[in-house]
Amino acid sequence: MQTFLDQVAQKVLEQTDHDMDKICLVTPNRRAGLFLKKSFSVKITQPIWAPDVLSMEDFIGRITGITIQEPVALLLDFYKVYCREEKQQAEPLEEFLKWAPMLIKDFNDIDAHMPDPRPIFDSVTDVKRIETWNPDGKAMSDFQKKYVIFFEKFRKWHAALANELTRGKIAYQGLAYRLAADTLSAEEAPALPWDYIYFIGFSALNQAEETIIRSLTKKRKAEILWDADKYYFNNPNHEAGMFLRKYRKQWNLTQLSFMGDHFTSSKKNIRIYGVAKNVNQAKLAANILKTFPKDSIPSHQTAVVLANEDMLLPMLNSIPDDMGKVNITMGFPIRKTSIYALFESLFQMHVTTLRMKSAATGLKSAFYFKDVVRFFRHPAISVLLPGEEETLSTEAFIRKIYASKKTFLSVERLDSFWGEEGKFKTLFSTYLEGFAKAPYKMIPALLHLKTCLDEAFRRKSAEENIAVENAPWFTDFEALFPISVVLRKLETFAAQQEEVNDLRTLFMLFQAMARESKLVLSGEPLAGLQIMGMLETRNLDFKNLIILSANEDILPAAKSSNSLLPFDIKAYYNIPVYKEKDAIFAYHFYRLLQRAENVHIIYNTQSQDMGSSEKSRFITQLQLEMPQWNPNIVIHERIIPLPSATEEPEQDIVIGKNKEILETLQLINHKGFSPTTLNHYIRCSLFFYFRHIATIKETMAPEETIQANTLGTVVHEVLQQLYQDEQLVGKELQPHHMDKMIPAIERITATKFEEFYKGGDISSGKNLLLARVAARFVKNFLMAEKKFLEDLQAKGKTLKYIRAEKEDIAEVPMAISDNISTIRFKGTTDRIDQLGNTIRVIDYKTGKVEKEELKIKDWNDITKDPQLGKSFQLMMYAMLYSRKYGMPVELMPGIVSFRNLGAGLLTLSYPEGYGTIDPAIIQQFESKLQELMQEIFDPATPFRRTEDEQNCINCDFRIACNR
Ligand code: SF4
Repeated sequence: MQTFLDQVAQKVLEQTDHDMDKICLVTPNRRAGLFLKKSFSVKITQPIWAPDVLSMEDFIGRITGITIQEPVALLLDFYKVYCREEKQQAEPLEEFLKWAPMLIKDFNDIDAHMPDPRPIFDSVTDVKRIETWNPDGKAMSDFQKKYVIFFEKFRKWHAALANELTRGKIAYQGLAYRLAADTLSAEEAPALPWDYIYFIGFSALNQAEETIIRSLTKKRKAEILWDADKYYFNNPNHEAGMFLRKYRKQWNLTQLSFMGDHFTSSKKNIRIYGVAKNVNQAKLAANILKTFPKDSIPSHQTAVVLANEDMLLPMLNSIPDDMGKVNITMGFPIRKTSIYALFESLFQMHVTTLRMKSAATGLKSAFYFKDVVRFFRHPAISVLLPGEEETLSTEAFIRKIYASKKTFLSVERLDSFWGEEGKFKTLFSTYLEGFAKAPYKMIPALLHLKTCLDEAFRRKSAEENIAVENAPWFTDFEALFPISVVLRKLETFAAQQEEVNDLRTLFMLFQAMARESKLVLSGEPLAGLQIMGMLETRNLDFKNLIILSANEDILPAAKSSNSLLPFDIKAYYNIPVYKEKDAIFAYHFYRLLQRAENVHIIYNTQSQDMGSSEKSRFITQLQLEMPQWNPNIVIHERIIPLPSATEEPEQDIVIGKNKEILETLQLINHKGFSPTTLNHYIRCSLFFYFRHIATIKETMAPEETIQANTLGTVVHEVLQQLYQDEQLVGKELQPHHMDKMIPAIERITATKFEEFYKGGDISSGKNLLLARVAARFVKNFLMAEKKFLEDLQAKGKTLKYIRAEKEDIAEVPMAISDNISTIRFKGTTDRIDQLGNTIRVIDYKTGKVEKEELKIKDWNDITKDPQLGKSFQLMMYAMLYSRKYGMPVELMPGIVSFRNLGAGLLTLSYPEGYGTIDPAIIQQFESKLQELMQEIFDPATPFRRTEDEQNCINCDFRIACNR
């Protein structure tokens, strides 16, 4: 196969007659230059002077003498300019870093496309003025004024930054391109060191590039060698040819060099696959690779193109062992490695500590528990701490953090959790010192962590007798070096820039630098299997291609503005918007396909991963157009089915009742079955098993904000205390009792929070609001009770407060089995009172309860439907009361819902009636309860997962149950 670069080499050699020392060849990137040199080397038969082969960026650097500034250094340069311009008004660096990268990108786009920047910035300000204009004639608020002024200043900042940078012979890319274009298009353009320049394989040029190339071609000092195909070039609607058609028209070109007819004349076998998940895309690609002829891979005729860079690691892990040399031309972002997360989490621990200092209630260097857990849960910590004992210490340590229920933890407390006195401090104190006053000390601490990890990985490699490069953690190990480079650069910056004076700013710069840093996975550039990103394919051709992640929103990329300039203004001033960007992607895709023979395109059918689950529009276009264009292009599409959960017989979890389990049930019976325990069984028998037989506790994280159950407990306790303080047990309630209780609510609420929310802070934020909610619940309840009592008084009726919260136990004769004839039930009623002849058994609920929830339509449901849990609970209380105290004239179980006080006491309704219940109803309930207990004790009925997966939604055991 003759590649585009082979054609270029042939043409250049013919045109220059091998006299190359005054020739410059400019390619879109360095990789294309490397392949071009290889094409030349194959074609020349005698020694010649090699031409200059430069990437466009290097070419610009050569003619302007300007160096492209590194992104983070550029941000700091901009910050200096900004502070000089804004003086006292300048925001701190931390705030500046939030918007400056986006503005620099806009400056870059403006300069690369060379419109006069002044009217652009003036238009932006006008748009912002219109946006903030108040049609009712009201003056602008201070915020609106500040907002408009921010945009007004772009013009000044842009000019000042450009001046500052060019004085120092540095620039961002767009500025360098503009300067090069201005230089070469000037009347007195400087002489260049070459006689002739070839611009090779460009398609979408920015205005600066266009100006450079046009001014040189007009002087017959240069030409551009295009790579195109009639298929997309001749179709005025095909986006892949959009730019080339534009240049032909604008530059009056009669024909384009290397206009091919590949899509019409060549045979192609295109296979399209849809497969779920990234990892399966990689596995499929590996299987396809195995089918390629063995000799096609060493001769670099085969490429795997990753439209989504996240696919690199899954792909590398899937490459068949016998694939031979592999060259990875794309770097892997270090921030996507697992080890980077460890460094970030350590930084984050200290940053949160500073931010939450007030919440840390004066503790020195108190760390937020979630940050600590994230750091210690990182898999690399187990590499750092060799030995099983240490790993167990880490697990126990994390358990103790949770058990402590503390949101913030001092180093001393963490030390005490480790298990061996002082050991934790010895191991980790370097990383947990207070860096607030001396943020720079954080960098040596992070570098120390890097050194320890480096040693730990090497030690592990020796212990496991596995070469580092073959180890599963190789990428993490490799990433340590670029991370340390980032840290050292950061150290230098921090020492030079007085603005970098706090930990948060340092952290933001660390993240910004890490975003630019890539892990270079070396290989043999011109041999073996080539793995590359879409942009790296520019100018290259491969006979066999596998393209991964060919999904919409990746190929082409999703529309994202990421700009402070309004869309319309950009479009008006010919600064590229998504339409142009889509055309660039289209050109790369179709150009790559034009000479390929075997093409495998894989897309992800699952939407959770990056991009949509839809195949790329380019695939659909191929499928629709190619059959008409060339019958020799054969396209097949397959959706690769994976063994899905629905296809595989689901593994049920069945736990039979052995002797031990039956004995445990007896023990529970001995203590008494509560409504909560039985509701657990009704919801899911396996849940009942986990919680009450295997006694697996709920994983309780420290309560950062007051949780619903704590709020409920406090409200119950406050009410109980208020009635107790007024000594109302056994007395008739009067409206004036409520008047006496109301002023005490806040004091008692605060005391109860101290008791039930130990160590928590309710003086600010969400907790303060929740504490107020609790007090408000109680007050509203007392006000409603007062009104109720006043109404009763008017009717000449009375309400007697019989008792507050108390547990009742009842032994109920039930024929369960040969050796079980009695079941013990227990339940804690919140309040019992007497209204006339009616005994009311009351349960308080701080959540909202509706009357609908207390409707029992069929008695068979009461022990089967978890939705009837509250009704079941009320019936249990009624049964316990009647068993313990005998059946009163009238018995009325009900719920007071603090979020629905207007509804009064919410009572049950059942098939036979509503409100009060009689002995027949209790009997009915007991018979259903007996059936339930028989099932629980039945050795032949195992515990198994609930059939209704809705019940699993908030369950702790979802992972264990695969639900
Ligand atoms: S996850 Fe579902 S099946 Fe498993 S214990 Fe919880 S409720 Fe039962």
